[in-house]
Amino acid sequence: MKGRVLVVDDERRQRDILQMILEAEGYETTAASNGRQALQAAASESFDVVLTDLKMPDMNGIELLSELPKQPAGPCVILMTAHGTIDTTDVVLATGGQSLPKTGSDGGGFEFARRLGHTIVPTTPALVPLVLDEGSTNAIHRELSGVSHDVELVLWIDDRISTRLSGSLLWTHFGVSGPVSLNASRHWLRAELEGRRVRLTAGFCPGDTFETQERWWLARTGARPKTSVVTALSGRVPAAVAAAVVRCLNIDPARPLAHLTRDERRSLSSAVVAWPLPVTSCRGYNYAEATAGGVALDEIDPATMASRICPGLYLVGEMLDVDGRIGGFNFQWAWSTANVAGRAVANCEGGVACS
Ligand SMILES: Cc1cc2nc3c(=O)[nH]c(=O)nc-3n(C[C@H](O)[C@H](O)[C@H](O)COP(=O)(O)OP(=O)(O)OC[C@H]3O[C@@H](n4cnc5c(N)ncnc54)[C@H](O)[C@@H]3O)c2cc1C
Repeated sequence: MKGRVLVVDDERRQRDILQMILEAEGYETTAASNGRQALQAAASESFDVVLTDLKMPDMNGIELLSELPKQPAGPCVILMTAHGTIDTTDVVLATGGQSLPKTGSDGGGFEFARRLGHTIVPTTPALVPLVLDEGSTNAIHRELSGVSHDVELVLWIDDRISTRLSGSLLWTHFGVSGPVSLNASRHWLRAELEGRRVRLTAGFCPGDTFETQERWWLARTGARPKTSVVTALSGRVPAAVAAAVVRCLNIDPARPLAHLTRDERRSLSSAVVAWPLPVTSCRGYNYAEATAGGVALDEIDPATMASRICPGLYLVGEMLDVDGRIGGFNFQWAWSTANVAGRAVANCEGGVACS
């Protein structure tokens, strides 16, 4: 037997799943469906870990007993229930960020951490679709809704290139989504939060520069002078995108390449390498896959995930000031930090894990 775990949750299915996983791993478990039962269980037997849902109606939250004289092995954290308290030496806080609040990750954990003395780096949605200005002359998203293609996104902060990202972009009725837009969103939103001048452009032929585009148009004109401008561009980007770009530039789509003026060719070249995406906002936490910002990392010991501010408290996962790009990095961060904290707590006397 690896240890004794008290599982406290008012949802039977969650309790059953947790007990099943823990018992398969060699732990002995006891279940409680409310604060009263948890307290009774904790009074009659000792547990190595209490796993509890702090959102249960009769669980009031956690309090730091900072006013109590600290004893070396004494409890410094206490779980308050409507029926009494559970003392412990260690608490793991794993309440997530603010994304998809209907799942329960509504930012409530930040308030716990703040009350326990932690700095919360201001949060923004991350991995979230971006909303574009419907009234902009460059607004082509609605007519392209459903079209997806590879682009290179460039984030400009104070007129300097800050970030380049390549990948698939999906046009939608409200703006842009798809992996590359989701990855760009945290950069755009952080810059906006900091009050910086920020804009986003899309290169429809990733890797191309204005000069390579110019050379391509000239070569194409030489080789196929009678080809229409929209047909030519459709060879490089999806036909619907080609049509939208040519229309926005007020160029006759049927114009043969040989009849393109120098200015028209140059405006096509710059449009294709740096199409302005008129971002106004994002779709918000209800559509965000992650949260940027959170508990400041310099307040956490990375070897154990223990708080440097509140003894006995461990913080893991998305509630910390870490967010990753698409590709499983956020899951990996949550699992890895939970693993580190779990091992650290296992080496301590007693413990409580909260989410
Ligand atoms: C739609 C969507 C898709 C995603 N896809 C991916 C992906 O493909 N790859 C990837 O790496 N990441 C993805 N993520 C992100 C990933 O799910 C999170 O980064 C990860 O789950 C964070 O783990 P966590 O344990 O820190 O928090 P969470 O998984 O959010 O868990 C926190 C738990 O705490 C509970 N809780 C919160 N506050 C309280 C409270 N006050 N009292 C009691 N309980 C509370 C919540 O109900 C929740 O069950 C996705 C997220 C979303 C929303």
